[in-house]
Amino acid sequence: KKAEWAKLKNEPSVTADGVHVELAANIGTPDDIEGALANGAEGVGLFRTEFLYMGRTELPTEDEQFESYKKVLEGMGDKPVVIRTLDIGGDKELPYLELPKEMNPFLGYRAIRLCLDQTDIFRTQLRALLRASVYGNLKIMFPMIATLEEFRQAKALLEEEKEQLQNEGVDVSDSFEVGIMVEIPSTAVIADQFAKEVDFFSIGTNDLIQYTLAADRMNEQVAYLYQPYHPAVLRLISNVIDAAHKEGKWAGMCGEMAGDEVALPILLGLGLDEFSMSATSILPARSQLLETKKADVEAVKAEILGHATSKDIEAYVRNAFPMQ
Ligand code: PEP
Ligand code: MG
Repeated sequence: KKAEWAKLKNEPSVTADGVHVELAANIGTPDDIEGALANGAEGVGLFRTEFLYMGRTELPTEDEQFESYKKVLEGMGDKPVVIRTLDIGGDKELPYLELPKEMNPFLGYRAIRLCLDQTDIFRTQLRALLRASVYGNLKIMFPMIATLEEFRQAKALLEEEKEQLQNEGVDVSDSFEVGIMVEIPSTAVIADQFAKEVDFFSIGTNDLIQYTLAADRMNEQVAYLYQPYHPAVLRLISNVIDAAHKEGKWAGMCGEMAGDEVALPILLGLGLDEFSMSATSILPARSQLLETKKADVEAVKAEILGHATSKDIEAYVRNAFPMQ
């Protein structure tokens, strides 16, 4: 099977009925680019920049960040690269920020919340991203967006830094997209409102599932409630994709679910445009896509979403679209 997959490395990701979707890689450091390309990634769907901030004693400088972003963009050539702004907090700590201990870190002061509060940290990252924007096909993504105001504030800060850089005579691209992660149910529910203002969505199922079912993604005792195929999760995903398409925008997914073999036909049928996963899942997913007709899954979309439990949905999909 491995040899079969290897042959697909330079092939496009198309379904059995000829529909192209993008299979991209999730990366944590610029060095991960090599593995992504070796596994046939058509882009980077998620660069988790928090690793630049971790395992050290102080914040990375603008120049350090710029070098990392530039390296990733140049390494990927003209392929799309989605870089996510700092998503610290929750399970990822930065001791040198000396943040207060919280009762519920996953519901607390993290990611965009911290960035919109400590804007000096955020502005430094935005400047590094803007300076790197001329070196490839950059898309900037904000994590943990819960309200439209948060997106507007983040975008305004980005615009301010862009203008500032241009006044300083620094080259900044005019064509990069700005999107958000959809990983909080409030945002998934009003995706139609967001779709008017963002350039794209990337669905973060790792968090979206835990917030939808109120089941901590790190807690073994409630792991049985962490259900990717729960009909509520699928309806939220479907809503996000439809909302994006109504406004002519694209919708991707960068949570673990994007690389799951049962989820793949479901997501294809719901119309997902981009699947971003760990590099090693890309070739198996491409092989599965080649054997799956999008029209077949679309035809049973209502049936899939109509089941009442996760178990029923999984059983139905495994039966209708047998995995190898
Ligand atoms: C997610 O929440 O699905 C996601 C991709 O982000 P992270 O796993 O970094 O929280
Ligand atoms: Mg997340």
